[in-house]
Amino acid sequence: MRQELYDLAVLGCGPAGLSAAVNATIRNKKVVVVGAEVCSPPLHKAQKINNYLGMPDVSGGELLDRFVQHARQIDIEILNSKATSISELNGLFSILLGDEIITTRSIVIATGIPYRATLPREDYFLGRGLGYCATCDGPIYRGKDVIIVAHSSEAEDEANFMAEICRRVYYLPLYKNPGKLHHAVQMVDSRPKDIMGDEFVVGLELKDGSILNAEGVFVLGGETAPDRLIPGLEIKDNHIVVNRQQETNLPGVYAAGDCTGPPYQVAKSVGEGQVAGLNASRYASRQSG
Ligand SMILES: Cc1cc2nc3c(=O)[nH]c(=O)nc-3n(C[C@H](O)[C@H](O)[C@H](O)COP(=O)(O)OP(=O)(O)OC[C@H]3O[C@@H](n4cnc5c(N)ncnc54)[C@H](O)[C@@H]3O)c2cc1C
Repeated sequence: MRQELYDLAVLGCGPAGLSAAVNATIRNKKVVVVGAEVCSPPLHKAQKINNYLGMPDVSGGELLDRFVQHARQIDIEILNSKATSISELNGLFSILLGDEIITTRSIVIATGIPYRATLPREDYFLGRGLGYCATCDGPIYRGKDVIIVAHSSEAEDEANFMAEICRRVYYLPLYKNPGKLHHAVQMVDSRPKDIMGDEFVVGLELKDGSILNAEGVFVLGGETAPDRLIPGLEIKDNHIVVNRQQETNLPGVYAAGDCTGPPYQVAKSVGEGQVAGLNASRYASRQSG
């Protein structure tokens, strides 16, 4: 068990978590961040981020490096680990990280989308023609053919958007009663079996034996609920419920970024992280008297 008592522990070192940590550190709080070795697997894999203000055409990897550098420059401690459970006693939280425990006055959960793969080899093809945000990657597929594998009606707006810029959009709904789609979207009544391609996606094999050729495959609307790291944390539609202060239903526990719901975007994650970091700092100051 670590001896230090932290003001704030941030779970996740993606854009939301690092933004929370930087803002709390600037407020002179004692902060620790817990996250994977590659701080944000989704951002790391994004070929181009073209909607982050002031940094047109930056690659996901470069943007992530700059976020991490910023945190390291102001001596933020980043532990390469994963939180497995959290408990609270007398206003202090104990977070279990493997065989280590850290103690903190407040927490920001910024763990991203807990995603379960729909297709074999999704992880391999992520960023090589497979994506989870069609509107983000849309420009790359202008004039090309794409396939959308949709877990819920949340995917319909993205399919309609892609129909305006792509040559063909195939739509495979994995849910009942899809709504009204753009006339150019081709509904496919089958189930996906496997992604085709060696280095990059070239198409999708379907369970009925047929094949769809396309340069892009998007799996949309299928996020799973965040892990219930803390008993009693309120979840709705698989996301952590927060208010505009990024407060969850548990005092001292804040959440930010993709784990609070769409849009799954860097700018939204950074903004929510800032609000969460500042409010968690205020909470910790009140707790320490
Ligand atoms: C291919 C691709 C292209 C994209 N393109 C764009 C784009 O053009 N524009 C845009 O704005 N967005 C884009 N995105 C989305 C963007 O990357 C995400 O919105 C953003 O990374 C979310 O930030 P986050 O901090 O909420 O979560 P993440 O970046 O997912 O970070 C979450 C972190 O939490 C860690 N974690 C999870 N569980 C635990 C735990 N129990 N304990 C500790 N740590 C934990 C994870 O390991 C990870 O490090 C793209 C995503 C992908 C995959």
